[in-house]
Amino acid sequence: MRLILLGPPGAGKGTQAQRLVHRHGIVQLSTGEMLRAAVAAQTPVGLKAKDIMACGGLVSDDIVIGIIAERIEQPDAAKGFILDGFPRTVPQAEALDRLLKSKGLKLDAAVELRVNESALLQRVEARVAQMRERGEEVRIDDTPEVLSKRLASYRTLTEPLVHYYSEKRKLVTIDGMMTIEHVTREINRVLAAITASDKPAKKASHKAASKVAAAKRALGSKTAARKTGNFPGKTSSGSTKAVKKAPKSARKAAKSTSKAAKKPIRRASRKPAARNAKAAGKSAKKVTKKRAKR
Ligand code: ADP
Repeated sequence: MRLILLGPPGAGKGTQAQRLVHRHGIVQLSTGEMLRAAVAAQTPVGLKAKDIMACGGLVSDDIVIGIIAERIEQPDAAKGFILDGFPRTVPQAEALDRLLKSKGLKLDAAVELRVNESALLQRVEARVAQMRERGEEVRIDDTPEVLSKRLASYRTLTEPLVHYYSEKRKLVTIDGMMTIEHVTREINRVLAAITASDKPAKKASHKAASKVAAAKRALGSKTAARKTGNFPGKTSSGSTKAVKKAPKSARKAAKSTSKAAKKPIRRASRKPAARNAKAAGKSAKKVTKKRAKR
């Protein structure tokens, strides 16, 4: 499973990512964590990123894209991954698309955790207090001033990704204002529906393919019958009942062989799937008409 977690700082991406890691046995790739590690280790990337991060700015796209490209090559990411904090800009999302495409990989979903901005400062303050209690080092960008800068950059640079993934039919929006447990349950429910809708759709496409073949045969024999006047379904009494049935079953079969069935239906409640089915039904009718004209 390959996922993206989208949401402003304090939305709960880290918490939910950890739970997904356990549930699906995949790795969490957090660019923030990776960059903090690079800063701590004083690597060349860390030296470049340090000041930008401290004031809540964004590290250059090239750097983070490079980090992610390298990281998803690692064997532990083969089973899948959750991207947390990446992509953060549209160019990063486009780079990710190219990267995945070049490796023949697909993204399952971009999960957006939607939260009220007014709750975020409180959440981050609570996180800081807990970290202090545990004696952990507090992030230097977890201050009210820097947080407001990070929020502003989320709004202008990252939020457009909601539209980006919605257009690609990958977006799943979860109410991040619910309790942690509820959010987890909701994410699991939606992801289960996505996985389930992918599987039967693949099976369905085989079924659909054989139905289409049957439909074509039925249409073909009717056309031939029209040309020759020799109706194969004609009974000895001259009834054409069986033949009359053919176009109906053909239409039915062709209808079920929607584009949506060939392309796995991505979301349980997606209207476009129904639209595709309708379109396929229409094109099947066109074929019937065309053939009838001949
Ligand atoms: P949060 O989501 O809580 O703001 P992160 O831990 O994801 O924090 O990131 C911390 C900082 O690391 C960001 O403010 C930014 O400076 C840098 N960073 C992380 N990911 C990216 C990214 N994809 N592109 C640019 N900068 C990033």
